[in-house]
Amino acid sequence: MTTPTPRPTRFVRPPPPPLDSDCALFLDIDGTIADLAQSPDAVHIDDAIAAALPRLARWLGGALALVTGRTITSADRLFPGLALPMAGQHGWERRDAAGGIHLHAPARRTQARLRRLLQRLAKRHPQLLLEDKGASLALHYRGAPHLAAHVHRTVRQSVAMEEGYFVQPGKLLLEVRPEGSDKGTAIDAFMAEDPFAGRVPVFVGDDLTDEHGFAAVERLGGWTVKVGAGRTAARFRLAEPAAVHQWLMAPLVARCALIGGPGAR
Ligand SMILES: [Mg+2]
Repeated sequence: MTTPTPRPTRFVRPPPPPLDSDCALFLDIDGTIADLAQSPDAVHIDDAIAAALPRLARWLGGALALVTGRTITSADRLFPGLALPMAGQHGWERRDAAGGIHLHAPARRTQARLRRLLQRLAKRHPQLLLEDKGASLALHYRGAPHLAAHVHRTVRQSVAMEEGYFVQPGKLLLEVRPEGSDKGTAIDAFMAEDPFAGRVPVFVGDDLTDEHGFAAVERLGGWTVKVGAGRTAARFRLAEPAAVHQWLMAPLVARCALIGGPGAR
């Protein structure tokens, strides 16, 4: 019996080219520059990447922003003292390069109804973890993957009855989010401002919500990098956060070797 030749997958992607100092760099956090953990609070940031981010930001003329599903407050806790430009809650909140905060208007009543529903569900199944971010709510079922179908069905049915909110699936989580903002709208907003405007946008992300960012960056003629396996619109792929670290640090290492010494900037 002959072994059939495996067909190449439609989603094979090459690694990205080396970063350039003319780029505007947008980075997701969880699953992209940090390994996923059992809960968002348990995520650890590697010391080397924490030290590299401010150096990278200087090399890019300040054009480095974090684009995350976390709240800005939660992400700031991971990078103490750094205060990089950032889009939190998938673009619902944004801190520009000058430190200005931009928020989308919340639909408070709808938000309160959906919060109560998710709280009831999490109370009934203690293995579920409800992450209340304010504007968006994430229900993590990493601790109870067998509940996935039940969680999806219950949450989708309830959100379908509400206006202005939608369900965003993620890695072992389901997120209920307000419409009108996503990682793509956040990147578009950064790209209209200094010091991002006029640069080539590069977005690196690992999850379904990052596909909005990939679409925006493709429209702007930039580079899109998917981390890990899975179907994607991104052009390039890196296998895991460790590979992202290596790629991000390569220009700093090269520059250091050229100038001579680890303290070189
Ligand atoms: Mg992620």
